[in-house]
Amino acid sequence: MSKRKLTKRQAWRIEKIQAERNARALKKDAQLIDARDNNGQSNELGAEKRGLVIAHYGTQVDIEDLSSEDKATPRQRRRCHFRSNLGSLVTGDKVVWRDAEPTGVVIAVQDRESELSRPDPYGELKTVAANIDRILIVIAPIPKPHTQLVDRYLVAAENIGIRPVLVINKTDLIDDSNRATLDEFVHLYSDLGYEVISASTIDCTTPSTLQTESEEQDNNNGGGLDNLRSFLTHFTSVFVGQSGVGKSSLINMLIPDLNLQVGPISESNQKGTHTTTTAQLFHFPEGGHLIDSPGIREFGLWHMKLDDILYGFVEFRPYIGHCKFRDCKHLKEPACAIHKAYEDGHINEYRMNSFNALRTTLTE
Ligand code: GDP
Ligand code: ZN
Repeated sequence: MSKRKLTKRQAWRIEKIQAERNARALKKDAQLIDARDNNGQSNELGAEKRGLVIAHYGTQVDIEDLSSEDKATPRQRRRCHFRSNLGSLVTGDKVVWRDAEPTGVVIAVQDRESELSRPDPYGELKTVAANIDRILIVIAPIPKPHTQLVDRYLVAAENIGIRPVLVINKTDLIDDSNRATLDEFVHLYSDLGYEVISASTIDCTTPSTLQTESEEQDNNNGGGLDNLRSFLTHFTSVFVGQSGVGKSSLINMLIPDLNLQVGPISESNQKGTHTTTTAQLFHFPEGGHLIDSPGIREFGLWHMKLDDILYGFVEFRPYIGHCKFRDCKHLKEPACAIHKAYEDGHINEYRMNSFNALRTTLTE
């Protein structure tokens, strides 16, 4: 990979993100893509209304009506067809739809602010959810956090431009055997600029000694779900992370009617309301939304390219493109800017090791 190519690619990414931000700012009252099909409209269809895709099933979607101002009553939901010229709708898409019995019809889709994609069984990247604001990477004292796995999620999140946040769950299990490791973890990622939120689904009263700086300022004990709950009200979020860290438990506490299965069974034998593999959108009672599916929880765990991995390590970015050799692989080449930054103490050892471990999964 040449220096020029990499630089161009980075520039292109930054430009793209800026352009998207500008476009979003200009379109605060977002214009809808007019994708109406006049021939297909029936007189029996109701008026055009705003809606939200809360689940999708091949050629049909479940729509929640967003037209009512009354948030107190459950919003109307309807299975809808959608016209093929709209492309593929995904959970989280904002649409215009018309009601009918027994199925309504989606006639337009709004530009997406973000897309979460993952490879299909053939290796093609496929969008599985839209308009997500935050990716919550959950870790816990037990099972022991896997820094490299966290870095993988971070790299994937950075590359699709959705802000990642770290959640330390099971703070009730923090003791002398794991406190130092977790503290180091919190400092490492807070220093890189990532927000870290502590949570516990078990004990909401015992003060934890693990506090992020912002929590210390708030004089909050770091346990319980208050911090997480108030954070979530602002966004549409997804939860990712290693099996057993408590994602289902957290979701069950935050959305009491959901009843996801907790524990090892939930991994091997998905039952009940959550059997479907399609991403579903749920509402937190206090505000904010969750998009969840077993597939989404595995987001980021696929092969990545070297320049994606480099871009995903935020503290490496200032050094990208400054190596002596254009095709530097950042291994042991002379005058490698990444290695120099590491030797000068600008890159943490954990992260350097993690980068080297991730690159061994390269496909190119
Ligand atoms: P998931 O695989 O990430 O969805 O994890 P689960 O929600 O299935 O939880 C795995 C195990 O951790 C279960 O036995 C839970 O009861 C337990 N667990 C979840 N949250 C907490 C917590 O805050 N504290 C403690 N001590 N255990 C928890
Ligand atoms: Zn290099």
